[in-house]
Amino acid sequence: MSKKVRVRFAPSPTGGLHLGGMRTVLYNYLFAKKNGGDFVLRIEDTDQSRYVEGAEEYIFSCLKWAGLVPDESPIHGGSYGPYHQSERKELYRKYAEQLVKEGHAYYAFDTTEDLEKMRHAPMAIGVKTDHNPSPQYDHNIRMKMRNSLTLSSEEVNKLLTERTNHVIRIKMPEHETVTFIDIIRGEVSFDTSLVDDKVLLKADGMPTYHLAVVVDDYLMKISHVFRGEEWLSSAPVHVLLWKYLFGLNEMPQWAHLPLILGPNGKLSKRDGVKYGFPVFAMSWTDPKTAEVVEGFKEKGFLPEAFINFLALLGWNDGTEKEIFTKEELIEKFSIERVHSGGAKFDYEKAKWFNHEWIKKLNVESLKWKVIEVLKEKGITGIEDAVLEKVITLVKDRCTLLTDFYEQSFLFFKTPEKWDVDAVKPKWNEAKQLFFAELTRNYQLSNDWNAISLEKNFKEIIAMNEMKPGELLLPLRIMLVGGKFGPGVFDIAEVLGKEETLHRIKLALTQFSN
Ligand code: GLU
Repeated sequence: MSKKVRVRFAPSPTGGLHLGGMRTVLYNYLFAKKNGGDFVLRIEDTDQSRYVEGAEEYIFSCLKWAGLVPDESPIHGGSYGPYHQSERKELYRKYAEQLVKEGHAYYAFDTTEDLEKMRHAPMAIGVKTDHNPSPQYDHNIRMKMRNSLTLSSEEVNKLLTERTNHVIRIKMPEHETVTFIDIIRGEVSFDTSLVDDKVLLKADGMPTYHLAVVVDDYLMKISHVFRGEEWLSSAPVHVLLWKYLFGLNEMPQWAHLPLILGPNGKLSKRDGVKYGFPVFAMSWTDPKTAEVVEGFKEKGFLPEAFINFLALLGWNDGTEKEIFTKEELIEKFSIERVHSGGAKFDYEKAKWFNHEWIKKLNVESLKWKVIEVLKEKGITGIEDAVLEKVITLVKDRCTLLTDFYEQSFLFFKTPEKWDVDAVKPKWNEAKQLFFAELTRNYQLSNDWNAISLEKNFKEIIAMNEMKPGELLLPLRIMLVGGKFGPGVFDIAEVLGKEETLHRIKLALTQFSN
């Protein structure tokens, strides 16, 4: 029987969640849902020195916003908890000790000074080779350091009984080839001699990422590991740990996801700042520096568009189709179709997706988001019916949700300035009379809608033998102040009789003197 699909996203709470991290979440989520599996969120917080206040809550907010809610997590619970690695501290030691006992790991008692010396006196202690320009604690060096491979067992026991500070390191085999099959890349091989003896258990008893990730993926019965390409170089250590501790048959299947590329190689936070686009899912405020990095949400992206473009950064369904709902993505997604090459992020294209999604969503789905955007700008208390009409009129003109303000403020704010230069040079007595008549006509109208307003306008024009083109622009400028906005009569309908007449009257005083 094949294993139940269980995948995990395992962030370290160290800061904002960038596009790469969110795409890892998305691919894990889609794969789990497609295969009727579980999506687990595990917080990898064993490196206390990198812990950043608020980062964990922030990760949950990003997942919630994007609609990628885990089945199991520190806040959703589950039967494989705890889901914070820091709360699992006691679990890991026994595996590290087992590795020592079986000769795959060793105690290392080197002091900070010993390690400094090793790094800075390469010729004396370490060995510099072409492959290994800066010495690292590896098979070349370990026999020259203070560890249970070089000290006698009496000395080791004494140091342990005296509780001397020590770590446990993996003993990387010399000149072995470690191979595994990556779902995206195929067979991947590593020469173990090039990998250092990574610390597995730190002096404070906390595991490092390498030990914790393998133990937890085992204990949490993870069937597939999808993670960023930056972890590929750690894979040989993980494969060996799987082999030594649980057996390779138990090992999950792995896929290392390609990098997301910015204008100059790997997409970075700096690119976002430099080119003015977001790289984080949601705005992130660094608690130490108070630096704020704007996120896709705050920039005005819909979560539907966000996950849509993200899914296509490195994957397609084999057709030209670009717009996918989450349900369609779940149905179509396959990890085998993820490309191994880096995926280039194109902000203009991301905006295109958002525009398509704003067009695609109905008014009801957009309403609350638009209310938020307008509220930010001080526009509140809009009647529901009015808001719905406004959204219908302007949504196709909006690329970002924040554009709803630019496109619709004209309905809620009486102009204070008018583009007089566009009207005044051609203003004349006939036009003045026309608008006086139009005002009278509109005053009497009990059928206030765009169609009848346009009909009345045209009738008066016909009676006066004038040209609609000469009068439409002045009317628009009267109503909104400039040459913008949707259809003039649609605007008048939404404004209502009183406000329309008020605006015409105000503007006329500007044009006629
Ligand atoms: N804790 C690692 C990170 O912060 C997770 C790597 C993995 O998924 O194995 O990205």
